[in-house]
Amino acid sequence: MLTETIKLTAKFKLKETPKGLDDLFSVYREIVNFLISYAHENNITSFYRLKKETYKELRRGYPQLPSHYIYTACQMATAVYKSYRKRKRKGKANGKPVFKKDVIMLDDHLFRLDLEKGVIKLSIPNGRLNLEFYPAKYHEKFKTWKVGQAWLVRTPKGVFINVVFSKEVEVRDPKAFVGVDLNENNVTLSLPNGEFVQIITHEREIRTGYFVKRRKIQKKLKTGKKRKELLEKYGERERNRLTDLYHKLANKIVELAEKYGGIALEDLTEIRESIRYSAEMNGRLHRWSFRKLQSIIEYKAKLKGIKVVFVNPAFTSSLCPICGGKLSPNGHRVLKCKCGFEADRDVVGSWNIRLRALKMWGVSVPPESPPMKTGGGKPTRYEINTLHALNG
Ligand SMILES: [Zn+2]
Repeated sequence: MLTETIKLTAKFKLKETPKGLDDLFSVYREIVNFLISYAHENNITSFYRLKKETYKELRRGYPQLPSHYIYTACQMATAVYKSYRKRKRKGKANGKPVFKKDVIMLDDHLFRLDLEKGVIKLSIPNGRLNLEFYPAKYHEKFKTWKVGQAWLVRTPKGVFINVVFSKEVEVRDPKAFVGVDLNENNVTLSLPNGEFVQIITHEREIRTGYFVKRRKIQKKLKTGKKRKELLEKYGERERNRLTDLYHKLANKIVELAEKYGGIALEDLTEIRESIRYSAEMNGRLHRWSFRKLQSIIEYKAKLKGIKVVFVNPAFTSSLCPICGGKLSPNGHRVLKCKCGFEADRDVVGSWNIRLRALKMWGVSVPPESPPMKTGGGKPTRYEINTLHALNG
C-alpha cells in the first residue's frame, strides 16, 4: 500500500460580478506588472528574493489589500518573468514582459469555498465579498476533497474561479498490469490473461467532421469577429465531445483493470514520442488528446486504488514481444518476426507496453507465448457506443 495524491481542477462560474471585483482585477494586474518590471530590471527569478525586496514597498502602496495577494502576485510575476526569459533565449520575445490577463491567483488565506451554499467568500480590501456561483453536478464529489490554490479568471463568458482540489488515496501493489495503447481511432488493451481487447473510438471521424466544419467557416467568412466566434464555438464543442468520449473510455479501461490492480501507459513526455505522434497524426491537438485521455485514466484509476505506471514508448510498436527482434510488415496491419511471431500492429503495441511495466515493476517476466485465445494475436473488437456488450 502506498499513498498517492490526486489533483483535479474544478470551475465555478460566478452568477454576478460585483463592482469590487473589477477594482481587484486592475489593482492586482498593476502589482503583478510592477513586480515583473522589478524582476526584469534586477534579473530576479527567485520568488523569495522578489518578495523580500518588494514586499515593504507594496505594503505601503496598498495598505488595505490583504497581504496574501502580494505573495501570489510574486508567484505569478516570477512565473511570467521566467517564461519570458525562456522565450527570449529562443528569440521569441521582444520588448518588455507585460502581464495583460485578468487573472488573480488565490491561496487558501484569500478565499473560502462553501459547496453546500454555493458561495465563495473572497477577501478584498476592507472586507469580504460573497460570490455566488452556478452549481454543477460534478462539483458534488469534491465535498470531501482538500481545497488548494485557485485562480480568479475573467473571460468574455464571465468570471470563473478555478479551484484545485486534492485527495490522498491508497494505491494497492498491482498483481499484474493491463497494457494500454492509445491510437487515433482505437484503444487496444493487453490483458494479463493473454487476451486483447480493442475499443473502436471513432475519434478520427469526430475530428474530421469538425475539421470540415471549420474549413467551411473559414471559406465563407474571411475575417472578422463572427468568424472568430464561430471557430471558437466549434472548437469548444469538439473538445467537449472528445472529453465525454475520454470519460467513457477511461471508465471502461479502469473497470477492466480493477481486478489486476495495474495499468501501464506510454510516457508521452518523451520528446521522441511526440515526434512519432505528430508525424503520424496532426500535431498539437493530438498531443493534447493523448495527455488529456491519459490524465483521465490516471485519476480514475487512482480513485479505485489501481497503480498507474508510465513506460518508455520507444519502439513499442516495432519490436517482437517474444524475442525482442525487429518486426516487419506482413500485409494489412499485420507484423511478423523472424522467430515466427505474427500479430496485429495494435496488439504488438499494447503487449510491449504491458511487458515493460512488468520489468519496470521488478516482476520477472515469464517467457511469453503467442496468444492462443485470440486466434494468433487478433484483438476482440468493440464499438465505443456498444460498450455494454463488453464484460468487465
Ligand atoms: Zn520474435
